[in-house]
Amino acid sequence: MPILASETIAAVATAMTASGIGIIRMSGPKSREIAGKIYRSKNGKNKIEEVKSHTINYGFIYDGDEEIDEVLVMVMDGPRSYTGEDTIEIDCHGGVLAMKKVLETVIKYGARPAEPGEFTKRAFLNGRIDLSQAEAVIDIINAKNEYALKSSLHQLKGSVQKVICEIRENIIYHIAYIESALDDPEHISVDGYGETLGKDIKIQKEKVENLLSTVKEGKMMKEGIKTVIVGKPNAGKSSLMNVLVGEERAIVTDIAGTTRDILEETIVLHGISLRMIDTAGIRDTEDKVEQIGVGRAKEYAKDADLILYVVDSSRPLDENDEEIMEILEDKKAIVLLNKTDLEQKVTEEMLKEKLSHPVVSISAKEEQGIDVLEQEIKNMFFEGELSFNDEVYITNMRHKTALEEALDSLKMVENSIEMQMPEDFFSIDLMNAYESLGSIIGEAVGEDLVNEIFSKFCTGK
Ligand code: GDP
Repeated sequence: MPILASETIAAVATAMTASGIGIIRMSGPKSREIAGKIYRSKNGKNKIEEVKSHTINYGFIYDGDEEIDEVLVMVMDGPRSYTGEDTIEIDCHGGVLAMKKVLETVIKYGARPAEPGEFTKRAFLNGRIDLSQAEAVIDIINAKNEYALKSSLHQLKGSVQKVICEIRENIIYHIAYIESALDDPEHISVDGYGETLGKDIKIQKEKVENLLSTVKEGKMMKEGIKTVIVGKPNAGKSSLMNVLVGEERAIVTDIAGTTRDILEETIVLHGISLRMIDTAGIRDTEDKVEQIGVGRAKEYAKDADLILYVVDSSRPLDENDEEIMEILEDKKAIVLLNKTDLEQKVTEEMLKEKLSHPVVSISAKEEQGIDVLEQEIKNMFFEGELSFNDEVYITNMRHKTALEEALDSLKMVENSIEMQMPEDFFSIDLMNAYESLGSIIGEAVGEDLVNEIFSKFCTGK
């Protein structure tokens, strides 16, 4: 049963920037009443309190006699609304001032400002969406690129939930069976049950492992591929960075990195985010050669998902290059043969002899070969076309932890079967697995966890 909240909440549901339209959303039992007090139709006859649900009503918002804005008011009575409650959405003109004034008016007449994520929290509490779907809403709001967005949308449709529910159904069946057998040993036998259970656990374990195997790709989809550019001084690293950043002009984030004064810039190539670790700041401080010692490169390369190794083709390979090549050995890397507009002292063939990584000829200066590089990155990380219709990606680290816990519990069940432990031993670990999986979709989760998740939302969602 839905637990309908008593308070009516309101917030700007669109971004607080100048845009075409802005939406003020209200949810709760007084939504219609409040809208009725401030809305006037053109001829004055249309009353929000009386209109049918799921209608759009043209008119004006008034605070007393003062006209605030020309609007469209959408009326959606619960339970057929996002939150499951009576909901009003007011489409007003998109200026920040207009949105603010309409919101203030709504609040003046009885709504209270919504907390971040409160609309989605209500949708969850009213059973309109499960927790993995609610988290997908956060991800959609924060999505940095096309793939992340598709994955979140897919999750919002309940794809993770579906797989988790299937696994849980199987587990709860076994728990119920064991419990019943222990209660009624005369009629239900557990002889040889370990074997039956063992077979099923193996299948469920594989399903959990499959989900876990998507974490790395899912994480990269969501957060971007951590990329470091290495190469000896003057090879053209900064030039490459500038071309990559400049070409897309899509610097999504510009946040200070975790280590010292390194800048991280996220660029989007063909819908794939690269989190570029820009070491330029450090290099430019003092003596160039001293500052970008191979030691530094090693440090950055250590936990990179991808290394772009820039080789200056106009100068012979030297000991710096040799040392960098050593770093690349067991890493995902693309070798960029730069300055191909000049006379070549190093060729693709020479590099291929020394390294097994793909080699791409470019000229950072003339912006040549960058498209080939982009294609190579795509091939490397996402083999074939990404299909979001049948693949479920785990993009959320909380889900990952819960899956790992479930996997551990399932392994314990297997151990207990192998060691021929009594059946009630199986139940305990089965129940743990069941609960860990349940925490992903928001079943049997503590209130703290729910609050924590919803506080991450932006207001209005
Ligand atoms: P970094 O020290 O590795 O970051 O190298 P920079 O990007 O600062 O480049 C060093 C010099 O090489 C600069 O003068 C660039 O203009 C030049 N350079 C970089 N890429 C190319 C290229 O593709 N062709 C040519 N001819 N010069 C380049």
